[in-house]
Amino acid sequence: MEPTADIAVIGLAVMGQNLIMNMNDHGFTVVAYNRTTAKVDEFLANEAKGSKVIGVHSVEEMVKNLKRPRRVMLMVKAGKPVDEFIDHILPYLEAGDIIIDGGNSLYEDTARRVKYVESKGLLYIGTGVSGGEEGARKGPSIMPGGSPAAWPHVKDIFQSIAAKVADGSPCCDWVGEGGAGHYVKMVHNGIEYGDMQLICEAYQFMKDGLGMTPDEMSEEFAEWNKAELDSYLIEITRDILAKKDEDGSPLVDKILDTAGQKGTGKWTVISSADLGIPITLMAEAVYSRCVSSMKDLRVEASKAFKPGNPKITGDRKQWTKDLAQALYASKIVSYAQGYMLMRAAAEQNGWNLNYGGIALMWRGGCIIRSAFLGDIKDAFDKNKKLSNLLLAPFFKKAIKSAQRSWRKVVSTAVKKGIPVPAFSTALAFFDGFRSERLPANLLQAQRDYFGAHTYERTDKARGEFFHTNWTGRG
Ligand code: NAP
Repeated sequence: MEPTADIAVIGLAVMGQNLIMNMNDHGFTVVAYNRTTAKVDEFLANEAKGSKVIGVHSVEEMVKNLKRPRRVMLMVKAGKPVDEFIDHILPYLEAGDIIIDGGNSLYEDTARRVKYVESKGLLYIGTGVSGGEEGARKGPSIMPGGSPAAWPHVKDIFQSIAAKVADGSPCCDWVGEGGAGHYVKMVHNGIEYGDMQLICEAYQFMKDGLGMTPDEMSEEFAEWNKAELDSYLIEITRDILAKKDEDGSPLVDKILDTAGQKGTGKWTVISSADLGIPITLMAEAVYSRCVSSMKDLRVEASKAFKPGNPKITGDRKQWTKDLAQALYASKIVSYAQGYMLMRAAAEQNGWNLNYGGIALMWRGGCIIRSAFLGDIKDAFDKNKKLSNLLLAPFFKKAIKSAQRSWRKVVSTAVKKGIPVPAFSTALAFFDGFRSERLPANLLQAQRDYFGAHTYERTDKARGEFFHTNWTGRG
């Protein structure tokens, strides 16, 4: 019998199941397999009931059902399970077949796997899939990279199931070779950390500084969602703040204030340190979660250093307007930093990244989706060689008009003792970025003083190095 299936998906947890049903809805025939085979039967009896999905209990059976070139997508836990599955399925596949990893894998692992699978004559794709379980079911943002020869064979499936923006363009396009797809997904997650932290700081400023209730804050976020901050994360924050517990009180007040941080945020910060790119806002977002997790210590410190009265006086409406502007300017800095990081990684890895295309991929389907990403795409469409997002005319104007409010919010928060690490690091970065002269001249002198590290001079050519005997001693 001729095989009929277009693709196989291994891994029937929430992401795998939802992607399969999304593919099924778009007319593709999918083979479903899972290590614990009971989950295959469960899936067929429930979510996949009445669909064209073919459930199998072995890799052999899975392969028999697939049209050539065979496409096998892994939606399993990132890390060792991916390597184990690759080795498990390789003997059943043949030259030209394609293995796809749609999990949150580390881009370096993906680059290694691309080489390994290609060395066996097959093709490999490592793809970021963003949008959580709802995105997977209704249209995620998909960021594929790996073996370029594999792309024409998966393009139709991926672009069909991906989210679409208003003009119908899919939030999925080829990113680049090696680990490029997972790298871009990693930076997306780093940006997501930053966006969430900024919103949380605005929330604390409203709550402690302006004395607003969750309902009042929800209304404010609803307003913000109608202007330049229009985004999925602002939208869900509006809804979260309005949500009541069973006793009618705001649920958000009852949630313990400690957060963890998983792989991708940390990986973004590590990569930025390796490449020498300051993604200060994302780093603060990761560290803020670390501070939040030290609950017992914070409780002790709050007794040792009793905070003063954080209440901010003045016109509340004006303050919330200033706050929105501070958030917007900080967000521009965060995305500019993320794009700087992708540019440096592309240079190091020889990727030809399409920066406007990446903004389009993030425009819909994923957690950081926003109207703002349309403006980023426009900036790169207008100037393909744009060196930094902060220098694009649109964002230059936005930062200039937000600057006063941004400084007002940060300085007031500092005076009142309200922690705003992401707002303030964004402003500090901006002030450094726009400084023609920084104090690194003194730093270089210090290094030369204690370690004879030498320095360059402003009155001599670059690349000429000098050393001074600072103490006059021999
Ligand atoms: P998950 O909980 O990360 O993984 C569960 C799946 O992995 C199950 O199919 C499980 O099989 C399999 N698995 C676990 N350990 C295994 C091992 N040692 N060997 C073989 N299979 C193993 O599932 P998920 O939340 O659906 O996520 C899948 C991937 O997508 C992950 O990489 C995740 O990081 C990524 N992702 C998730 C989200 C999300 O919102 N959840 C969003 C974007 C990306 P058994 O049933 O046999 O245990």
